[in-house]
Amino acid sequence: MKIIEKYKIHQEAPFNNEEVMLVSRVPILIWTLLVYVATLILQNFNELIFLNSLFFSITYFFHILVHWYSNLLTRFWSWLYFLTQGLMILTCALLMPFGSPAVLIGLLPVLIGQSIGLYSHNRKIIFVSLYSVSMFFYAEIFLRKAYELLLITPLFFLMLIIVIAYSMLFLQQVHARLRTQSFLKDLENAHRKVEELTLANERQRMARDLHDTLAQGVASFIMQLEAADEFIVQGNIRRSQEIIQQSMGQARRTLAEARRVINNLRLNSASEMVFHEELTDEIQRFFQATGINVYPKIQMSSQMSRMLMEHSLYIVSECLTNVAKHAKADNVWVTVNEQNDRIEIEVKDNGTGFDTSQVGKQAGHYGLLGLFERVRLIGGEIQITSASNGTRIRMEAPIHKGDKL
Ligand code: ADP
Ligand code: CA
Repeated sequence: MKIIEKYKIHQEAPFNNEEVMLVSRVPILIWTLLVYVATLILQNFNELIFLNSLFFSITYFFHILVHWYSNLLTRFWSWLYFLTQGLMILTCALLMPFGSPAVLIGLLPVLIGQSIGLYSHNRKIIFVSLYSVSMFFYAEIFLRKAYELLLITPLFFLMLIIVIAYSMLFLQQVHARLRTQSFLKDLENAHRKVEELTLANERQRMARDLHDTLAQGVASFIMQLEAADEFIVQGNIRRSQEIIQQSMGQARRTLAEARRVINNLRLNSASEMVFHEELTDEIQRFFQATGINVYPKIQMSSQMSRMLMEHSLYIVSECLTNVAKHAKADNVWVTVNEQNDRIEIEVKDNGTGFDTSQVGKQAGHYGLLGLFERVRLIGGEIQITSASNGTRIRMEAPIHKGDKL
């Protein structure tokens, strides 16, 4: 008994804050460069200070550098990152007295925004916020007159609100993206698992098919031999010969059926498949085993993925097996076409037909259900129509040129 591994879906995707820092790196860099230009203009239009501008530029360069590696630097001692960045921003502001509002209003809120992205602890975010706000007041009280402070402070807080709102939105987006990625990975796993299970299921079913054909065939063979033996004892040689001839036919049919089932098994493990050849072989085997006339029409030019080939072959094979087992037909038409990058398969017989509403409801009869599952796996559609003059199974699926697997 195979134990099916329980499949677990992550309730909560594991968020990597380093990733948040990485994703926000470029937008913040662009913003930081804009602030740099604004500060230089603001300062040098009011008062041209060359040496200070040079030191400012150097400090600013380091600020950008530390920002660029923020994802690595915040991995262990994130507090050191915020401390250094804050101090560098303060230095820049003090070096450029006229440009300082741009530096402080432009950069300190970003620092708070980053802390929102990095920390899940509110206390740490509050700490970085208090630190940044005190940097602002320290620099501005030091540099500015009281009335100027009254003008700049509201601007600073306005900017702070905008940046916090933006950070939260941004963070939500990043988390949604990470969650989607993680779900996609889960989905892929689930998909693979389903495929594995389908294949395992199929092997079991094939083994059962083999067992049924051989066991049933040999059992009736024994019964016929026993009957023949009995007639020989009674001296009725003619009757016993008739039975032996019947059982020879039975033995040949059993052998052909067993070969067909074994071939089906081989089909699933073939490493290289040429679709057209495999399909023709399958049809040939069917004809030899059953004597039912097959009218094949195969027109395929595109290279299909291995998975699509395997599923398509299996679908045809299962339909033909059903015709042999249930339909009591004398003709079957197999059409395989390619149209608009889709493969179309149709297997039609002129047999007795059956009640399609019962599909999947009879215990132990899972062949047609298996077809539905396969068609779903290859992203296709299937229709089964059946009446007293025969059954028609039609499926189509996208080819996805270029897929190798
Ligand atoms: P199984 O072949 O193991 O019986 P399937 O799911 O393949 O199970 O088929 C379910 C039932 O549908 C069959 O038992 C049979 O009664 C009916 N059936 C399927 N295909 C045909 C067909 N081509 N002609 C007539 N009856 C069919
Ligand atoms: Ca079947």
